[in-house]
Amino acid sequence: MVSVELITVGDELLIGQVIDTNSAWIGRELGRIGAQVDRIVSVHDTAADIGDAVGAALERADVVIMTGGLGPTKDDITKKTLADLFGMRLVRNPDVFEHVRRMTAERGLEFNELNQAQASVPEGCTVLPNRVGTAPGMMFSRPDGAGGREKLLFSLPGVPFEMKELVSEQVVPIVKRHFSLRSVVHRTMITFGLAESAMALAIAPWEEALPGWLHLAYLPNARGIRLRLSAYDVDETSATAEIEARFAALREYIAPYMLGYEPSSVESAVAALLRERGRTLAVAESCTGGSISARITALAGASEYYLGGVTSYSNEAKARLLGVSVPDIERFGAVSETVARQMAAGAMERFGADYAVSTTGVAGPGGGTPEKPVGTVWMAIAWRTEKGETKTSARLMRFSELREQNIERAATHALNMLRL
Ligand code: ATP
Ligand code: MG
Repeated sequence: MVSVELITVGDELLIGQVIDTNSAWIGRELGRIGAQVDRIVSVHDTAADIGDAVGAALERADVVIMTGGLGPTKDDITKKTLADLFGMRLVRNPDVFEHVRRMTAERGLEFNELNQAQASVPEGCTVLPNRVGTAPGMMFSRPDGAGGREKLLFSLPGVPFEMKELVSEQVVPIVKRHFSLRSVVHRTMITFGLAESAMALAIAPWEEALPGWLHLAYLPNARGIRLRLSAYDVDETSATAEIEARFAALREYIAPYMLGYEPSSVESAVAALLRERGRTLAVAESCTGGSISARITALAGASEYYLGGVTSYSNEAKARLLGVSVPDIERFGAVSETVARQMAAGAMERFGADYAVSTTGVAGPGGGTPEKPVGTVWMAIAWRTEKGETKTSARLMRFSELREQNIERAATHALNMLRL
């Protein structure tokens, strides 16, 4: 397997000012062609740190990809450091010079000496033209890579969209060709509603029947369990077909819990159902604070079925905006089955929707009681029968101590009630 190491350069990464999202993205892209990232390091903008990191990475890896430190300012020293390290002179590259000149002109900027310096590259490196920015990417070849091929070192700009463009358009195809890599295929099914252990038991026969070259991973989070099937070093078309057939066979075991391939979600499954039936939805949220509405409206075209939502956090708001009975709130508490049902019914009625969903709970970390500890959430849905009667269905969940998790899980479970 081709081994890759990533080096991100910049003081801002080490003081926590900027999160290194470049590495995660590059790791995923290279994973798709079967090149494996084995190490990620971030270093300061100093020649000593960059030099050390590059030297060590080139000892071990077949491919080293660096990002950052290519800008025109004094703090960006990656290029100079690489030139010194490999004993190369910096020479002006006429194509890059012309590109930077044109780009600065288009932006109405002065073509000053700092911009001109961006057109100098270490003599003997391969320039990777940057269509979307001024600093070009660079590639260096070193002896002794995998399969008798040369090792490759890439230096790319740190700005994420420039880096992505260069990786997708140039680095990935070059690495794939250079090391004669075949494809890696990943396909991920989103499921919701079964716990991980219950899932593992339910699908055991299916899992055991998988061929050895297909690898299954369980990826649980607050929005469900993602099941990923991966195949490495394969023919893309036939592997994709096989994976799809395997997921189709999985329906026999857990059909009600399968939402579709990534990027599906509980909300996109609900949206599809509402659309298909031509029905509308209203939302009444207490502990989820609007996150159900936010997740629905994040989907394009939500206006076709989503009428609106109320974040009724206080008891007064529940009563005034949704018609929840004040005596019932006093008697049962705001976090109760009765209130959840009334919130859903009230939202359905007031928005004139076909369905409504509600949440009321103790998100934490404070506010719990022995009967209703932190993580207690009541949720309900409302709908109308053919005769026009309002019906509701409620559900009690007990989540964790963690506020953020409680909100996310409550929103997901409440949305999921609409699917069932
Ligand atoms: P430029 O030519 O724009 O100066 P550069 O190669 O010099 O590019 P940097 O100056 O190191 O890049 O970084 C530019 C910006 O890109 C940073 O301020 C930061 O916002 C972002 N950035 C840099 N490295 C990373 C990274 N590893 N992950 C996410 N963002 C990054
Ligand atoms: Mg920098």
